[in-house]
Amino acid sequence: MRPRVLVVAGTDSSGGAGLSRDVEALSAFGVRASVAVTAVTAQTHDRVAAVEPISSALVAAQMTAALEAEPTGAVKIGMLATKGTVEAVASVLREHAHIPVVLDPVLVSSSGGILLEKEAIAVLKRGLLPLCRLATPNWPELAVLANARPAEDEEAALRQGEALLETGCQALLVKGGHAPEREKSTDILLRRGEAPLRFDAPRANTTLRGSGCLLASGITGGLAKGMTLEEGIALAKEQVSRMFAAR
Ligand code: PLP
Repeated sequence: MRPRVLVVAGTDSSGGAGLSRDVEALSAFGVRASVAVTAVTAQTHDRVAAVEPISSALVAAQMTAALEAEPTGAVKIGMLATKGTVEAVASVLREHAHIPVVLDPVLVSSSGGILLEKEAIAVLKRGLLPLCRLATPNWPELAVLANARPAEDEEAALRQGEALLETGCQALLVKGGHAPEREKSTDILLRRGEAPLRFDAPRANTTLRGSGCLLASGITGGLAKGMTLEEGIALAKEQVSRMFAAR
């Protein structure tokens, strides 16, 4: 039976990011997807024109039904939109604690649109992050979660990551896409009590929308297939690099 991931995410009408990108990445990994839609967004590649969150009760109902319908190897979480949905998602996950969860902490789109309300951030940190096997913040997202100013160098980003690990999160992949480094893009895996692990890829001189969605989904697909975190990250990074190159 092909492995399956439950994707909990928002839709993006441009197809650049969100749920359809997640399913694309999983499919490239040979992994099936079940879905729980958290919000419908109207977007071009330059702006977020409208956002309509789905009720948190309906998000929870979608998750519960999806998990009942099919054996599920891992859960990938993207845009959550509201505090109520963060709480509802955490509550369903607590009932399925054996399933590994990867959280892409989506806060804003690259065009500047708000994808998670401000009041939700504390609950995400306190109630959801500790349930996740991995969270994949970029530098700006990490700074928000660590309640700090955006890092200007890798050392500062790592300090923020270590501080976040202390709050109960199991592992972080600190994505270096916003780093000043021009030659390569380095993501760093941080786990409590273990040395940081670096994953390098050549830096593409173009920006691919939804690259965060693709990477987190690829990693989740790897976990659903029984890979270790390291194997899943390495393979997902390769896959995203190939998608950049083919663009
Ligand atoms: N829209 C949705 C629904 C998303 O889930 C995400 C990211 O996960 C984005 C937009 C942001 O993507 P980008 O930064 O490429 O605009």
